[in-house]
Amino acid sequence: MIKIIKTVREMQDYSESLRNSGRKISFVPTMGYFHDGHLDLMREGRKSGDSLIVSIYVNPTQFGPSEDLEKYPRNFDRDRSLAESVGVDVIFFPSNAEMYPKNYQTYITVEEVTKNLCGLSRPGHFRGVATVCAKLFHMVKPHIAIFGKKDFQQLVTIKRMVADLNMDLEIVGMPTTREKDGLAMSSRNVYLSQEERESALCLSRSLKRAKERYEEGERDAGRILESVKKYIENVPFARIDYLKICSTETMNDVKILDGESVLALAVFIGSTRLIDNYVFGEDLNIN
Ligand code: AMP
Repeated sequence: MIKIIKTVREMQDYSESLRNSGRKISFVPTMGYFHDGHLDLMREGRKSGDSLIVSIYVNPTQFGPSEDLEKYPRNFDRDRSLAESVGVDVIFFPSNAEMYPKNYQTYITVEEVTKNLCGLSRPGHFRGVATVCAKLFHMVKPHIAIFGKKDFQQLVTIKRMVADLNMDLEIVGMPTTREKDGLAMSSRNVYLSQEERESALCLSRSLKRAKERYEEGERDAGRILESVKKYIENVPFARIDYLKICSTETMNDVKILDGESVLALAVFIGSTRLIDNYVFGEDLNIN
């Protein structure tokens, strides 16, 4: 039977006893409403640790005032059975009062890598993400924590924080899990109408287009971006929030693709904001 833990005290005591008995703890932090992308991270966690802990927490500090905190999809019972089906040992499911008790006032700011992309569009977002992840790491005490490359800037931010603050755990990034037609899986895909769902394919198709330009030998970021931009501008319901090519190390814009670079984009499809990315030179399993 999967164990459900709701308090910080119990989580810390439980993890401490796992550690004392020599077990390796792997951890997958999530906001719930699981899809196969989440489950792939859990499958990886199952392989890489002796005890697999998953957290479900919709973290208010990473949402802006006009964002979808209230309507973010939630279904604990469904999540519990999906987690059970991939062999999760513990779900940590804390309340807001547990996570941010009265008088809470400590936050973590990761500097340069959070300035661009989602950092520009969603002020305060990465401060919330870094803070909640640091807190969860202190509660769950994992040896290894697994994140998706789908949220590429988030992964870079967490790796930076862990290195800078000498946190004693390993961060692993996993490839993006996609629907058959290429759409990156996301809990937010449920917001899309049938017509919007079709338009949402413009994100993965943009990545494919950029990859093709790159493979033809194009190394000018501006020309690759222009070709993708023209394409998205003709897709119904689509409005570009950002579309950039950045260094994977600094997350700053690049003009020429010489070091390792990532094309990152955020596109509103109707009122739903979706993100996706492609690291040039890597595989992209899109037909
Ligand atoms: P979320 O619940 O959306 O905060 O995501 C929890 C974790 O799952 C994060 O590390 C995400 O990067 C990861 N994730 C979300 N979608 C995908 C996907 N399609 N493929 C792989 N990992 C994902």
